[in-house]
Amino acid sequence: MNQEYTVDPSRLVSPDMSAADAEEISLRPKTLDDYVGQEKAKGNLKVYLRAAQQRGEPMDHILLYGPPGLGKTTLAGIVAQEMGVQIRITSGPAIEKPGDLAALLTNLQEGDILFIDEIHRLSRQVEEVLYPALEDFALDIMIGKGPSAQSIRINLPRFTLVGATTRAGQLTGPLRDRFGILLKLELYSPKELGRIIMRSAGILGVPITEEGALELARCARGTPRIANRMLKRARDFATVQGDGTIDWETAIAARKWMDIDELGLDELDRSLLRAIIEMYNGGPVGLDTLAAVLGEESVTLYDVCEPYLMQMGMLTRTPRGRCVTRLAYEHLHMAVPKRFDEEDSGQTSMF
Ligand code: ADP
Repeated sequence: MNQEYTVDPSRLVSPDMSAADAEEISLRPKTLDDYVGQEKAKGNLKVYLRAAQQRGEPMDHILLYGPPGLGKTTLAGIVAQEMGVQIRITSGPAIEKPGDLAALLTNLQEGDILFIDEIHRLSRQVEEVLYPALEDFALDIMIGKGPSAQSIRINLPRFTLVGATTRAGQLTGPLRDRFGILLKLELYSPKELGRIIMRSAGILGVPITEEGALELARCARGTPRIANRMLKRARDFATVQGDGTIDWETAIAARKWMDIDELGLDELDRSLLRAIIEMYNGGPVGLDTLAAVLGEESVTLYDVCEPYLMQMGMLTRTPRGRCVTRLAYEHLHMAVPKRFDEEDSGQTSMF
């Protein structure tokens, strides 16, 4: 099921791109060596790149999957750069009709890369046109209607499709099968994000210490886009409140000013946990109920808040709804109910 969703662009920790991220393009690494982390995906990609270069052929079609802001578009740009070809960037919802896709495909040059973001949101009709394009580099077009209708085949240049999706599970089987290379992007470690922040600070000319970068990195939810955004906000803070340098103390003060706590949770994350604790006795409670209580879209909670809260071990998704863990109580400095002690001792007595 495809869901339309919007994430509040003013939300600092939203991994989706907003107008404030306009500087992002200048921060994009241009080569694989500049691309921090993702060693597994990078290692695989290097092999495929070298093989394609040696054969003198375009790369196989590539599917990149992982949460927003992890560097999928950046990686597609790097592949184009390494292969010395042009890249055209579009997205699933932007290709409304088969004709839109046909126009894109017929304008490609031999070897070019077509990048389709949110490829899981392509319509069925458009997908059907894409299959022969991916397999045989051809477009089948119907001309006319009724008994006089004729199908003609147009040959396309050999191109590489790079598809990106945040939800690999939502891709139809036939589409997924047409990608020869599947690469999964993982959340980044604070150390890797620290390196990304240092690199971006160098490009933007922001004075920053390694401790300052690491402090910001710890609260960036494993996501480079959020890390870069935190750097820019901390830069503003350091300019107004300090001498312009982001050292450890300034980074902490900036984080507090942004209302992000030491584990990277913002006000919405904390409200979500607090609502489950105060109104539903720790859960379980359904996602839609929570969304109504908080006045938020369910998908925002699902896509932005929950993955991070689950990664931090504060929230669980159960068949009956969402539950908080002992850690959530502790983090919010709320009294931990007795049942957690019983659960804990029950678990230990099993061994
Ligand atoms: P996605 O397409 O997955 O939403 P992007 O490729 O647009 O993410 O990446 C968002 C920003 O994060 C980029 O502009 C880039 O500055 C930064 N970024 C992403 N991945 C990396 C990386 N591995 N190393 C350095 N910067 C990165």
